Amino acid sequence: MSDQVLLQIRNLSIDYRAGKKKFVSVVRDVNLDVYRDESVALVGESGCGKTTLALAMLRLLPKLGIIRTGSIRFRNRSGEMVDLLALDDETLRRFRWTEAAVVYQGAQNSLNPLSRIRTQFLETARAHGRDSTAEQIDRRAAELLRLVRLEPARVLTAYPHELSGGMRQRVLIALGLLLDPQLVILDEPTTALDILTQRAIVDVLRNLQQQLHFAMVFVSHDLALAAELADRVATMYGGRIVELGGVRDTFYTPKHPYTIGLIKAVVPVSGDLPGVMSISGSPPSFGQLPGGCTFHPRCPYAQEICEAEDPPELTVGAEHSAACFFADDMSLDRKPATVDV
Ligand code: SF4
Repeated sequence: MSDQVLLQIRNLSIDYRAGKKKFVSVVRDVNLDVYRDESVALVGESGCGKTTLALAMLRLLPKLGIIRTGSIRFRNRSGEMVDLLALDDETLRRFRWTEAAVVYQGAQNSLNPLSRIRTQFLETARAHGRDSTAEQIDRRAAELLRLVRLEPARVLTAYPHELSGGMRQRVLIALGLLLDPQLVILDEPTTALDILTQRAIVDVLRNLQQQLHFAMVFVSHDLALAAELADRVATMYGGRIVELGGVRDTFYTPKHPYTIGLIKAVVPVSGDLPGVMSISGSPPSFGQLPGGCTFHPRCPYAQEICEAEDPPELTVGAEHSAACFFADDMSLDRKPATVDV
């Protein structure tokens, strides 16, 4: 992993319009650096703000999303840090795909059902200003399809419905890499795929990253995927990054009770189940976030202060931080608190 920052997010807060004069805060004061060639997982339950944060990295928020505060800066190929929030529409259009690309969740909905795969590669290249010939684009498409372990001769002439879900997902990944982006954002890249296909996609992504050297940010509720693919893991809850650390720190010495809960809730593929525990309650609605630490109604370690104050981000190790008053004392085998709040 390089130590050069590719994407820098500072104090980012995003609201969604929820009515005429009503807004709800869905991303709160996020700070995150993504380094060249690294892989960052954004994990958490549905509705924690991870997809919104990922889409904001490419300014792809839906119309109802408004960036309230903060900055998003990206190091372009010339080495300059560019303020993404200041780009005009045309520059932003060029930036997408050539500098950073997104692979959306649900491969079946992201490909044009009426076009052959070859046409979709050609149209993507043309739409983003590539003046390569059709033969050159064809050659690049075939190379990428081989890298994602698909047979170009068969796939390029096919319509999306002629391919399986796993094949379509791999086509989308290849399409995302067509213009050699420095950053690829993947939203739930293995959701809705069977376990063997998930395995194949993980292998493909890992190999692609080693060969093509792009940075990757992927959104997932699947901790196993994060453990396999990520260099660092950002755990999100209530729109905030509540823990950020290297993959080993996150899984062996987690310091935020929510991360601890997520790890304990993973069902092992073999062995006994008694160690598996679910997190009580449900994620809060963004319109009604609890005061104090937003996790306190569900936290087995909550104390009085947790109801009253939002915890600061504490440094708990090199490149490891957690937003919990008691982060220094948290561990996978810590007993729950005896004080009810
Ligand atoms: Fe739990 Fe309190 Fe830590 Fe929040 S600050 S995670 S409620 S112990």
